[in-house]
Amino acid sequence: KKLGVALVGLGNYATNQLAPALQETAHCYLAGIVTGTKSKEKVWMDKHNIPKKNVYNYDNFEEIANNKDIDIIYVVLPNSMHAEYSIKAAKAGKHVICEKPMAVSVEECEAMIKACKENKVKLSIGYRLHFDPYHKEIIKLSKEGSFGKVTYVSSQFGFTIGDPTQWRLKKALAGGGALMDVGIYCIQAARYAYGEEPIALQAQEFRSGSEKFREVDETVSWQMEFPDGKISNSTTSYAFGTNHLVVTAQKARAVIMPAYSYNGLGGIFNNEKLEFPRINQQALQMDDFAKNVVANTESKISGEEGLKDMKVLEAIYKSLASGGKRVTI
Ligand code: NAD
Repeated sequence: KKLGVALVGLGNYATNQLAPALQETAHCYLAGIVTGTKSKEKVWMDKHNIPKKNVYNYDNFEEIANNKDIDIIYVVLPNSMHAEYSIKAAKAGKHVICEKPMAVSVEECEAMIKACKENKVKLSIGYRLHFDPYHKEIIKLSKEGSFGKVTYVSSQFGFTIGDPTQWRLKKALAGGGALMDVGIYCIQAARYAYGEEPIALQAQEFRSGSEKFREVDETVSWQMEFPDGKISNSTTSYAFGTNHLVVTAQKARAVIMPAYSYNGLGGIFNNEKLEFPRINQQALQMDDFAKNVVANTESKISGEEGLKDMKVLEAIYKSLASGGKRVTI
C-alpha cells in the first residue's frame, strides 16, 4: 500500500516540485492538502483527485488526526511556521517531513525532535540533495577514501531575490536571509563532503544598503574549521546568482556546477565529465521516507541532521553579531 502524504502550505515549492514529484513516487502519493487559501481547494482537488474529506485549513488542521488516509504530513510553510506545524502534525500521530531550514532556532528544532519521539512518529528534513547522484558521488568519495582524504571544500549558493514584499525578506517569517534559505545547502555539503562536524567558524557580512535587506542578511561568507585543521569556505547571497561545490581530496578534485538545483546538475571529476541520468530528487526523497516509515527505520536526513545545521547557522549569526569573531560550535 502506498502511504498518503498531505502537503501543508501550497506555495511554489509544493505546487511546482512536490506535487509533480508525488506523481512519480512508488511508495507514497498525494492524499491530502492543508491550505489557508479557499480558492486553492477546488483547484487541487480537481487536479490531483483529492477527496473533500482530505482537505484541511489552518483552523481544523488538528482533525487530521482522525484521517486514516494521511500517514505523512509534509510542512512546506514559511520557516518560522515549521516548528508549530511539525509539532501539531506529530501530536496528530502523523509522520513528519519538514522543509529546510528545519526551523528558525536550535530550541525549536529540539522541541520538534522531542514531539516526534513522544508521539512515536518519524521526522525527516527536506534535504533533497542526499538523493541526487552528483551529491551521492561526493559522499562516496569522502566515505570510501579511495582518492585519499578530503582536504578542502569550497561552496557557494545565491540568487537574486525579486519581490521586496515576500516573506523571505521578513525576519519574523524567514528567521534570517540568504544564509538560512540557501546558505544552509553549503553547510550541509561541507558536512557530508568531509563526513565530519565543524568545530568552529567565523563569518563576514556584506550589505549593499538596499532597503530590501533591512530585516535579513543579504550576502554572507563564512569559513568553518573541521578536525585536523581542515577548512571549508562558503558564500551565500540574495544579491547575485552563484551555485557550485568544489571538493578537493588528496588524489582527486570534484567540481559540481550547478550544484544545488533541482535538475540539470553537472560535474567534473579529475578533468573528466561527470554525467548521471536524470532523476527526481523529491520523488526519491519522499519514497525513501515512506520506506523508513514502513520499515520503522530512521531517515538518514532525520531531525538530528536538521538540528546540526541549525547549530551551525546560530554560530554564524553569533559570529556576525560579534563583528566576525571566531565562534566554537
Ligand atoms: P512560497 O511563498 O511559495 O509558499 C509559502 C506558502 O505558505 C504559501 O502557500 C502561503 O500561502 C503559505 N503561508 C501560510 N502562512 C503564511 C504567511 N504568514 N506568510 C506567507 N505565506 C504563508 O514559499 P516556498 O518557496 O514554497 O517555500 C516554502 C518552504 O519550502 C520554505 O521553508 C522553503 O525554505 C522551503 N523550500 C525548500 C526547497 C528545497 O529545495 N528543499 C525549495 C523551495 C522552498
